[in-house]
Amino acid sequence: MLPEKFVLAERVLQVAPSPTLAVNAKAKALRAAGADILNFSVGEPDMTTPAHVCEAGKQAIDDGHTRYTPVAGIVELREAICAKLKKDQGWEYEPDQVQVCCGGKHGLFNIFQAILNPGDEVLIPAPYWVSYPPMVQLAGGTPVIVPLKEENNFDFDPEVLAQYVTPKTKAIVLNSPSNPTGAVFSQESLAAVGKMAYEKGWLVITDDMYEEISYIDGKLPHILHAIPRLRDQIVLSNGVSKSFAMTGWRIGWSIGPSQIIKAMNKIQSQSTSNPAAPSQYAALAALTGPQDFPKQLLEAFIPRRAYFVEALRAIPNVTCVNPMGAFYVFPNFSAYYGKTFNGQVIDGSLALADYLLSEANVASVPGAAFGSDDFIRFSFATSMDVIKEGMERITTALAALQ
Ligand SMILES: *Cc1c(COP(=O)(O)O)cnc(C)c1O
Repeated sequence: MLPEKFVLAERVLQVAPSPTLAVNAKAKALRAAGADILNFSVGEPDMTTPAHVCEAGKQAIDDGHTRYTPVAGIVELREAICAKLKKDQGWEYEPDQVQVCCGGKHGLFNIFQAILNPGDEVLIPAPYWVSYPPMVQLAGGTPVIVPLKEENNFDFDPEVLAQYVTPKTKAIVLNSPSNPTGAVFSQESLAAVGKMAYEKGWLVITDDMYEEISYIDGKLPHILHAIPRLRDQIVLSNGVSKSFAMTGWRIGWSIGPSQIIKAMNKIQSQSTSNPAAPSQYAALAALTGPQDFPKQLLEAFIPRRAYFVEALRAIPNVTCVNPMGAFYVFPNFSAYYGKTFNGQVIDGSLALADYLLSEANVASVPGAAFGSDDFIRFSFATSMDVIKEGMERITTALAALQ
């Protein structure tokens, strides 16, 4: 026990631990106790890292790449990141405008640490990825949540956005395709948001983690294509965690104005020094080797997504937006709130997710974790058999509510 008068830092008291990890932990505990849990709460692909990438990681160790690297990451990797961006998007960046860090999450953390002063506001569209608000708070900033509407396919309504703008607005976070909704922002709404950002001088942070996992025909819209003059006030965040099933290697990166990247490097130099050296070589192999793995992921996800969405929409009073990217479905279960099971009232997404876990042995993530209590998130980064069995259990469990 800590001494009685010892108090933890206020910043810790402000933030809640990641609820997605909490659900995962509870599901694991139930499974360890022998329950047949179907896990739809996972936020990572169900495939293993491609073999040639693993080999590159092993080779890096054998080649002696086991020491510190430059703070911003090895220059070969930063060059490969720039080359990929040029090839995929036509955008030209220099390696000194890139910081490699310990996963995309760490990159976003560094960005907020580098740009926020107390009172600075960051616009975060909801449903949002769980980590944005606490990251902003940990950097001393204030998250300002901008609601997106299901009936609008979770796209932006620029007029709604305008209501949340204040003189303290400093930045906006865009995640498209989105975790948890799978929504892709339209080119028109991105143009409207981009125009506003440009005129007001905000920093635009795009979390492009799911750009390779898109179900739309043709090119994924991006705010930097919609408004190219945003170039000097945009930071692009990305990584290999999802597109190459490399969540455990912890490699992500940020690309943006040199002054911001320099500031982030200062922070990284005093915290992690650099991301793990062998992981950087593995990520280099992912970017420079065969590019068919993300396509294989898509091929596996497409039929699961179709099945899941159709089965959810077949449940009475459930609506579900068709995800246009990522590997999550985000159905609206609010018609079941207020109903009871054994006298217990299901009063929201936390209670419903808990009910599904204990009564149907189905692990999911309550929408409250993403700032949208009407919904539950299910990941389809799991087998078709699990999805079919899970949908039967979910349908039966909802029908059992009174
Ligand atoms: C998974 C994820 C990330 C980052 O993941 P890392 O494992 O830290 O690379 C970032 N943003 C979103 C929306 C994600 O789902």
